[in-house]
Amino acid sequence: MARRGGDTQVTKEQDAHAASRRDGAESLRALRELLNLDDVCLEALYDAYLDTARRVFGLRTGVVGAIEGDAMVFLCVRSDVPVPFLEGASRPLDTLFVSLALKQHTSLLCHHIAAHESLRAHPIYLEGNFETYAAAPIRVGSTIFGVLSLLDPEPRDRPFDEADRAFLELLADTLGRAIERAGLETRRREAETKRREANVMFSAAFANAPIGMALVGLDGHLLEVNKAACALFGYSEAELLKLDFQSITYPADLPGDLEMVQALLAGKAKDYQIEKRYVRPGGEVVWAQLNATLVRFEDGTPRCFVSQIQDISTRRSMSAELAVRQAELEEANSKLLQLAAHDPLTGTLNRRALRQRLDADMQDAQRTGAPLGFIMVDVDHFKAYNDAHGHLEGDFALKVVAQCLMTAARESDAVGRFGGEEFLLVLPNTSETDAKSVAERLLKRIAASRDLRWPLTVSAGVHVLRTHGEHVAIDRPIARADEALYRAKQNGRNRVEVA
Ligand code: GH3
Ligand code: MG
Ligand code: MG
Repeated sequence: MARRGGDTQVTKEQDAHAASRRDGAESLRALRELLNLDDVCLEALYDAYLDTARRVFGLRTGVVGAIEGDAMVFLCVRSDVPVPFLEGASRPLDTLFVSLALKQHTSLLCHHIAAHESLRAHPIYLEGNFETYAAAPIRVGSTIFGVLSLLDPEPRDRPFDEADRAFLELLADTLGRAIERAGLETRRREAETKRREANVMFSAAFANAPIGMALVGLDGHLLEVNKAACALFGYSEAELLKLDFQSITYPADLPGDLEMVQALLAGKAKDYQIEKRYVRPGGEVVWAQLNATLVRFEDGTPRCFVSQIQDISTRRSMSAELAVRQAELEEANSKLLQLAAHDPLTGTLNRRALRQRLDADMQDAQRTGAPLGFIMVDVDHFKAYNDAHGHLEGDFALKVVAQCLMTAARESDAVGRFGGEEFLLVLPNTSETDAKSVAERLLKRIAASRDLRWPLTVSAGVHVLRTHGEHVAIDRPIARADEALYRAKQNGRNRVEVA
């Protein structure tokens, strides 16, 4: 239809405006459809964005590229014409127009490259594949993820205007946000999968653990128990889940356990280990080693306890038995020591032990200069006693004499059997007067003993050694006491003489 010049101009502009309004409305509708795409994979998202962009801009090729280092990876290529970009392939960034857009961090639109002075000199253009090029950076978060590009082998029928640029950038931005959402969703799913896997592994480890395991609520209720715990406590799982640990704990062991629980809740410890007893339904008591840990929520508030319970009854009873054996052994040992040191008939020290005591007492006396008393005791007419009443009666009499000597002696004194019916008393730190009165006291005690069935007396020889620091041979004071004893015998027996 023919139009006049001026009118034609106005009409063209009006047409362009109308077309642009129509385009704008269609573009927004298309964008809304893209925004409504929900729960689709990234590949489908790229396809949808590229197809919409190609339709809205009337261009035949669309590419989503991702920047990886210095290269562009072609993630998605949609085209109605042959193109030199293969999906999955990559090219160095600086061989592509994209590098120009990226350098300026903005979009690059050119409807006729041959007419564009700098772009037509670019090596990619010389490859001769397209005349129209439009690209906008795709931002994910604060970084540039890649580029949304549109191309066509023909020049576009009209130049790109600001609305085109704004719309392309809007598309690239929304795609960037969708990619970001998809990335977050992928990470969420991965985390969820990991959490599920961890749960599965924990459940398997929990259920099949060879030792008892329980999740315990803050009030003590059993929330979960494994097979081993049921076997140890002697209840079924259903029964246990109605109980708290307090009710199956041996009463005497409860306060200690509760104290540890309080320490965990107060944050004084992360876990604790105790040996405690549980009571089975039939009243049987079982010893267990309990390891308990407090698990907290992320904000630090206590969540529950994880308890590991190991039956140690066998170990406990074995160690109890071991303790009994040990005590028996120690008793036997001390009996052996007693036997080794004492005369079997009278219970006084034997010759060997008496000798050791003497060595020690002599050394002390030499070191301190303190007086050391010796009392040699001999039964009077013992041969005759034996002959008259028999050897067994003689033995009995020797025991009574020894008993009298031991009761008369102080804690620090030593009483030993020196020979057949001869005893030696060693009295550390004792003066002559004291030693003599000890001897006289024991003579009286024996003579008056009601334990003896026939009267019997002893004689005693006393000697007190004062060394003044010099070394003295043991035999010397003994010989002196013996001399005194000899004199006591000579002087009529049942008496004490001092030498
Ligand atoms: P005295 O007053 O001079 O010491 O006269 P005694 O008879 O005691 O002295 P003698 O040395 O002649 O005799 C000691 C007797 O002690 C002889 C021995 O058979 C007796 N004897 C020694 N050891 C034991 C013993 O273990 N049991 C009994 N029953 N008698 C013993
Ligand atoms: Mg005698
Ligand atoms: Mg004798």
